[in-house]
Amino acid sequence: SDTTALARQDIAAHLHPFTNLAAHADVGPLMVTRGDGIYVEDEQGRRYIEGMSGLWCSALGFSHPRLVAAGVKALQTLPYYHTFNHRSNPAVAELAERLLAVAPVPMARVFFANSGSEANDSAVKMIWYYHNAIGQPNKKKILARQRAYHGVTVASASLSGLPTNHRDFDLPIDRISHVDCPHHYRYGLPGESEADFATRLAEALEQRILAEGPDTVAAFFAEPVMGAGGVIVPPQTYFPKVQAVLRKYDVLLVADEVICGFGRTGNMFGSTTLGLQPDLLTCAKALSSGYVPISAVMVSQRVHEALAANSGKIGTFGHGYTYSGHPVACAIALETLKVFEDERIVERVRALTPAFQAGLHQLGQRASVGESRGVGLIGALELVADKATRQPHAPEVKAGPRLAALAQAEGLIVRAMGDTVALCPPLIISEAELATLFQRLGTAFDRYEHASAA
Ligand code: PLP
Repeated sequence: SDTTALARQDIAAHLHPFTNLAAHADVGPLMVTRGDGIYVEDEQGRRYIEGMSGLWCSALGFSHPRLVAAGVKALQTLPYYHTFNHRSNPAVAELAERLLAVAPVPMARVFFANSGSEANDSAVKMIWYYHNAIGQPNKKKILARQRAYHGVTVASASLSGLPTNHRDFDLPIDRISHVDCPHHYRYGLPGESEADFATRLAEALEQRILAEGPDTVAAFFAEPVMGAGGVIVPPQTYFPKVQAVLRKYDVLLVADEVICGFGRTGNMFGSTTLGLQPDLLTCAKALSSGYVPISAVMVSQRVHEALAANSGKIGTFGHGYTYSGHPVACAIALETLKVFEDERIVERVRALTPAFQAGLHQLGQRASVGESRGVGLIGALELVADKATRQPHAPEVKAGPRLAALAQAEGLIVRAMGDTVALCPPLIISEAELATLFQRLGTAFDRYEHASAA
C-alpha cells in the first residue's frame, strides 16, 4: 500500500464513496495525479490505460484541449449564474437546443442537474407531478429491474436493483419495486432461446402490471445496456416487447442513458441501438466527458405540456438545483457535443467496434471466462469456476477483484463488479492503443489462470 504523505492525509480525512471504509487504511488509495489521452498517472509516475474511462465517463479522454479551453473561457466570462425564475445564460440555451437535436426520439425540453442520480430523481418527481397534473393521482408506482444501477439518492438508489444500494439504507421506498433482469446467460431457462427469454420477461412484466393494478403503475426505468449490474446487453427483441406492454397500460418509459449516451454503443444513444422510444431520457457522464458535473433530463411533448400547464395553475414548477444549467458545466458540455460532431466520434466508435468486440470474444474463449459480452465500445468478461456448468466462484475467491488487481499491475485499469470485469475505454482510443489494452489484459489473464491452477 502507498504510505506517502498524501495517502496518509486521504486515509485520515476522506470518507470515500463505494469503498470498504474499514479496510481503507490497509489498502491505501491509488493517488491519481494527472491524465492525458487514454492514460492516467499516479503519484509515483506509473501510467495506466484507463480502460473504464474513470467511472464510464471520460469519452474524450483526460486532456481534450477544446474542453479545457471552453471551461477556461466560461470561467473568465461568467463563472456562475442560476436558471431559476426565467434566468438563463447563452451556454445552457445552446446546449439544450443541441441535445434536443441529437435526441433518439423527438423530445420537447431539457432540464439540467449535476449527476446521474439527480437526473433520475428529477425524472421520478416529474413523473409524479405529471400524473397529478393530468388527474391520475393514483398512478405513482415505478418499476425498475433487478441489477439495474440508477444512482444513490433516495429515489435513484431505490430504482437501483443491486443489494449494496439498499442494504442497511432502509431502501427501496414503497412506490418503487423491481422486475426481472434481462441477462440470458444467467437467467435464461435451459434450452430457451434469447427471443423466448425476452418474450417470457415481457409477459412477466405484463402480469406484474396487472397484479399491481395498471391504474397505479406510472413508469418503467431502464438502462439500454445495464452498466454497473455487469454490462448486460438484453436480447434485441426485449425492449420492443417490453415497450408494447408499457404502451398497452400507459406506463411511461424512462431511458437511463447515463452510461450508454453519447456514442458508447455505436449510436449517439443506446435507445437507438437497443430499440427504446422513451418518454423521458436521463444522461450525464460523457455529456461533459466527466470534466465537470452535469446531467440532463429530456422530456417528451406530452410530459412537457402537462408540467407547463400544472405549473401555470399552481404558480411554479417547484423543482431545480442551484447549479441547474451551470454556465461553466454547460460550456464544457456544449463543446463536448461539438467535438463529437467535428471528430465524428460515433463513426469512430463504429470503426473500432469490430476490433474491440473481437478482443473481448477472444478472451471469452479462455477456460476461466463464462461469458464475454458487449456492444460498441462497452463490454465485460464474466469469470466462472466452471465454464461448462457456468458455476460461479465462491465469493471469498474474489476472482473479479484479483483479475482487476493483476491488470492494474500491468498498467491497465478495469472494473470488477463481482466476478464480472468491465471495459469501457475512452472513445478516442486508437487501434494501436486498443491492441495494447488487450495485450495487457491478456497478460493479466495468463497470471490469473496460472495462479488459479497453482
Ligand atoms: N445511472 C447509471 C446508468 C449509472 O451508471 C450511474 C452511475 O454510474 C448513475 C445513474 C448515477 O450517476 P451519478 O453517479 O452521477 O449520480
